Amino acid sequence: MRRGRFAPSPTGELHIGNAFTAVMAWLQMRSVGGGFVLRMEDIDEARCRSDYAAQVMEDLRWLGLDWDEGPDVGGAHGPYQQRQRLPEYEAALRQLQGAGQLYPCFCSRAELVQVASAPHDLFADEPRYSGRCRHLTPVERVSRAEHKRPSLRFSVPDREVIVRDLLFGETRVNPADGGDFIVRRADGVFAYQLAVVVDDAAMAVTDVLRGADLFSSAPRQISLYRALGQEPPTFTHVPLVLDAQGRRLSKRNRSNAVRAMRESGVAAEEIIGVIAYLARLSDSIRPASLSELVERFDLRRLPKRPVQMDESSMRRLKMTESARAAN
Ligand code: GLU
Repeated sequence: MRRGRFAPSPTGELHIGNAFTAVMAWLQMRSVGGGFVLRMEDIDEARCRSDYAAQVMEDLRWLGLDWDEGPDVGGAHGPYQQRQRLPEYEAALRQLQGAGQLYPCFCSRAELVQVASAPHDLFADEPRYSGRCRHLTPVERVSRAEHKRPSLRFSVPDREVIVRDLLFGETRVNPADGGDFIVRRADGVFAYQLAVVVDDAAMAVTDVLRGADLFSSAPRQISLYRALGQEPPTFTHVPLVLDAQGRRLSKRNRSNAVRAMRESGVAAEEIIGVIAYLARLSDSIRPASLSELVERFDLRRLPKRPVQMDESSMRRLKMTESARAAN
């Protein structure tokens, strides 16, 4: 059976862009009779809040989504909050360590910023790690560790992987072009890349649908799946939602939040209607129910570029422009 998931990080309120992704992930599974899992990616305690986690779940339910497994309903592959899954991440690290695929990195933030950017377009927006600490001798590692707690990096195998994406087709990439990445930070927090792979594998997720901003993570995650002896999922990277000015939605503008819309009297069907319009599942903006969209869902209609809200959908959702809201 196909299994999908929505994996929000509870760092703020659910905004219309997050809701768009959640609805697409839910429709993708419900339209084929697949299972759907909700997982709270609350591993970074400094950034995540449990009141946001509760609120995100409530907003998703209010929109009409349901899940077969999740933090509040349990399930056979739990726990469904990353904070409670630390032993699983430890075990994965031990496995990678045992295979000689991890090394401690002592580089400072300043040293990391100096490195040249990655050669591959896909990784162009982030500095590529030079691999400086990869070749330290055991003696050097011990002496450095006396002064600094290291992060742990994954030695990315220099081997091409194929990202299978239901919207973008197949992309061949060598994840080593992006450099070795961190799997546990110096402060001990497990990195997103590791946690997400361990969780999706443990939760038997066959389909990862998420925002297109995470596309460059897919090759890295595939190399981790391989290193852990797991089969990677099929990906679907859906467009990001932009405001009427073409900017990414900001969590700081409260009017982007589903909760704010609800409080100003906007009905869930209005929000679902705008989402369906943005996803090209309807040709006009009108209230819609999730059950009618299940019938009509067709991934091939989804645009590959970011989708932009227009004035009329913003008005329907009682959204205000960021500039005005910031004052
Ligand atoms: N927790 C991530 C986020 O909220 C999503 C991770 C994923 O879908 O792979 O951006």
